Amino acid sequence: MIVKKITPRGFCKGVYNAIEIVKSSLMDDSLPRPIYVLGFIVHNRHVVQELTELGAITLDDRLASRSELVKHIKTGTVILSAHGTDELVKEQIKANGLKLIDATCIDVYKTHDSIREYLDKGYNVVYIGKSNHPETNASLSISDKITLIESVSDLDKTNLKEPLFVTNQTTFSLNDISRIHERIKELYPNSLITEEICNATRFRQNAIIKNNTDVDLCYIVGDPRSNNSRNLVKISEEETNTKTFLIESVKDINPADLKGVKIVSVSSGASTPTYLTKEVIDYLESFDNTA
Ligand code: SF4
Repeated sequence: MIVKKITPRGFCKGVYNAIEIVKSSLMDDSLPRPIYVLGFIVHNRHVVQELTELGAITLDDRLASRSELVKHIKTGTVILSAHGTDELVKEQIKANGLKLIDATCIDVYKTHDSIREYLDKGYNVVYIGKSNHPETNASLSISDKITLIESVSDLDKTNLKEPLFVTNQTTFSLNDISRIHERIKELYPNSLITEEICNATRFRQNAIIKNNTDVDLCYIVGDPRSNNSRNLVKISEEETNTKTFLIESVKDINPADLKGVKIVSVSSGASTPTYLTKEVIDYLESFDNTA
């Protein structure tokens, strides 16, 4: 069985930086204790587990807002996750007397800057993103003049007021965004559209399209919470018609799925540690599917 190792894969610069910020904060004795991380620092539970073992306390509860999570915390340091955080929550952290450290990716802040710029110019903003994702929540928190659109059907149900500035979540699917952009151009031809998918997401999605032309099966190593990992699966299935599984680690591989497979490809999301992907590749390279 041939194992195609698709590159680029794994940590992007934003994820790498965010993890380093947590690790260096944990080693900095001048910072107030405890050291909290608000939300998953990046969407991978193995990363979160490793940081927990080093002493970080991750505040995460899908049923509670970030504001609720920090409400009762009055001492310590709070590190904001790579996805960005609601502006009011940042104020709340400072008002509680906590030390705030921001690990938001610069590509997320680029989108925030463009949203602010066009709001100031009098535009209504359309934000294409996944609802309830922390990056989306942070972007929507900038103003109530931002309308969230998740799909073409969403767009068809919404009555938007021009002039429109259109931007998006950095880890959105290239396919989905181009479909939504086409529909916006039909409905609101004067809209100002920018495409803000970050290069890490774009290069990983394009690499899947380029490499999965002749493979029987593809594994994406990533956490189910990771938007960019899920979109790699989607792109692989939609654009290359390849049977694709999202797996968290080698333990999720079902040997029965490899029966008759001649070429298998492997990639991973931008928040997946290298060792998890290496274990998958090692397993597949030593797998005997002729038995
Ligand atoms: S996937 Fe893109 S936006 Fe998200 S952390 Fe990586 S570089 Fe930043």
